[in-house]
Amino acid sequence: MFFRRDFLIATHHGKEDAIGPLFREKFEANIIVPKNFNTDVFGTFSGEIERTGTPLETARRKSKAASEAFRVNLVIASEGSFGPHPSLYFIPADDEILLLTDYENNLEIAVREVSTKTNFAGKEVTTLDELKSFSETSGFPDHKVILKTVDEGHSTIIKDIQSWDELQSTAEMLLATYGKLSIETDMRAMNNPTRMSVIAQAAEKLANLMNSKCPRCKTPGFDVGKSEPGLPCSLCKLPTESTLKHVYICKKCDYHEDVYYPYKKSVEDPQYCQWCNP
Ligand SMILES: [Zn+2]
Ligand SMILES: [Zn+2]
Repeated sequence: MFFRRDFLIATHHGKEDAIGPLFREKFEANIIVPKNFNTDVFGTFSGEIERTGTPLETARRKSKAASEAFRVNLVIASEGSFGPHPSLYFIPADDEILLLTDYENNLEIAVREVSTKTNFAGKEVTTLDELKSFSETSGFPDHKVILKTVDEGHSTIIKDIQSWDELQSTAEMLLATYGKLSIETDMRAMNNPTRMSVIAQAAEKLANLMNSKCPRCKTPGFDVGKSEPGLPCSLCKLPTESTLKHVYICKKCDYHEDVYYPYKKSVEDPQYCQWCNP
């Protein structure tokens, strides 16, 4: 279904570097990257434009806009969010969504990759030393940083600083005027190699899912629809809260398939049993 087709990557932040090579290899894809597709209207990381809706909804809007503007019916859109990890609290995480929409076959395949591999951070600084130490930790200059004035609405935002010299002179100017400034990691993919590698992992997941087909109707994107608890305790044999099976569900024909013991274990350690270890 996806072999040798035109794939439009709805991006203007260089994400094709993380997606293109893999898709050329797996699907002999003809990768199209639109010129002048400004995804910033859908929200920016540095806060000039608020995002509205869930990341998946934003990805859908980008995909549709790109498909209509460039008249390609197979589109990959991506949306990243950064913040505390959804289950490991207080640890920053990069939460990437990749959405493939095939408008010709009326099919949508989405994957999510949540990684703690991120430099996402920001702080207010008053000295060049603080600024330097933050930038070093962030991986500057391979990873870019963004400087903002600390005032109502961040009246000045400076991006795309290339060198230590430029960083220092810009910061000196802002510190002389305002006494402090806010520095944050630039999360745009082309300015953040760590994020780029997480997008590449998501792309790998997406490619695998595109090759996972429903055994009945052969529709791609055959994926885990839900997981059910009930893995038996090795000691008391009663069901625990741990996952017993994954249920794969076809989005097109609703075919279900149970896969037991998806984590390669058929009993749970009594330490996680609510009966043996309440
Ligand atoms: Zn099916
Ligand atoms: Zn037990």
